[in-house]
Amino acid sequence: ERDSGRIKPCGGGIPSSAFEEFGISDSAVIKKIDKLLLVSPSGRKNIMNLSGGMINIVSRRLFDEQLREMASQAGAELVKGEFRKIRDTGKDYVIGIRQKNGTSLEVRADYVIGCDGVHSMVRQAMGLSPVNYVYTYSEIIRDASADACEFWFSESHAERSYSWVFPGGEGCLVGTGLRSRSKARESFDEFLKRRGLKSNGAGRGYMIPEWKDGDLVKGRVLFAGDAAAHVMPLSYEGIYYSMKSAHLASTAIIEGNILLYIKLWHKRFKSRFRFMKRLESHFMQNNRTMEKMVSILANPAIQKAFLKLWLKKDSDKNALLSYIRFFGKYLN
Ligand SMILES: Cc1cc2nc3c(=O)[nH]c(=O)nc-3n(C[C@H](O)[C@H](O)[C@H](O)COP(=O)(O)OP(=O)(O)OC[C@H]3O[C@@H](n4cnc5c(N)ncnc54)[C@H](O)[C@@H]3O)c2cc1C
Repeated sequence: ERDSGRIKPCGGGIPSSAFEEFGISDSAVIKKIDKLLLVSPSGRKNIMNLSGGMINIVSRRLFDEQLREMASQAGAELVKGEFRKIRDTGKDYVIGIRQKNGTSLEVRADYVIGCDGVHSMVRQAMGLSPVNYVYTYSEIIRDASADACEFWFSESHAERSYSWVFPGGEGCLVGTGLRSRSKARESFDEFLKRRGLKSNGAGRGYMIPEWKDGDLVKGRVLFAGDAAAHVMPLSYEGIYYSMKSAHLASTAIIEGNILLYIKLWHKRFKSRFRFMKRLESHFMQNNRTMEKMVSILANPAIQKAFLKLWLKKDSDKNALLSYIRFFGKYLN
């Protein structure tokens, strides 16, 4: 780990089902949210009450610490330092690390899982192109309050994306998704104006991967999380899929068949990701299509299928199929 003191810019929203699935305690959870608020470009509001699950908002500092602690307890040894290079000896890999204390360290490994985020140096060192990404600009606004995870749509502040207000421990994390970095501050300010909030001037820009069905394995190196662009299109949810992809990658290594990782990932998630990508391309085009999406999601049957798909990650194919049936007719 290069810098465990750095806090990843993130809304920290994770479906409660993920905590059950991975046996993670609630110790890093700072808020439990039971509803979503969608606001269309024209201002139409759509409240979605969650049933069968909640959105847990975590402190990323505490949550990331908790995951590192769980890994240590399971036998992992944490090295504080930066991955610099990788050399394939034919038999194993030699990984060059610059440790936090300034010294160099070499680690030999039969397999490597590159899970070093959107700007993955492991990807780069393996000769793969960087993942595609969209920009975000966000800030913790201490005097903001909200009792739902809010998603606001409009081309004026979130071109082909959305702006959000997520309740946090102290205030809210407020942000906006963007296609162009040059408009970041301007779009963010536009959203603050719409939502009636004031910046403290402590905003941060960061990238979020744009999913594409790309390389998951090269040689004996497997990629997981943002380094593999495992972020759900449209919702931009990445934490669950990072944990899940690391789990599937390690399962494949333990089974002695690294290509199993690709098979498991595709079987479990590819159709969902592809479908969400189609929805994103269709509904995030402009104000008219965003307006339509918010209005479709007011339909109780569609809401139910959508929430099941989002909150119940282990839900069977039927939830996906009913969702595809409902939405499919709007896509053609
Ligand atoms: C503004 C914003 C809001 C978001 N909100 C949400 C949300 O509410 N819910 C959600 O599910 N997802 C959200 N996401 C997405 C989510 O943050 C990511 O998908 C998720 O953190 C990816 O996890 P990861 O472990 O793959 O990468 P990261 O969380 O980026 O972790 C990568 C780790 O690798 C380390 N590292 C990097 N390079 C090196 C190196 N060379 N050597 C050693 N270590 C290195 C980093 O220090 C870091 O600890 C959001 C993203 C953004 C930008």
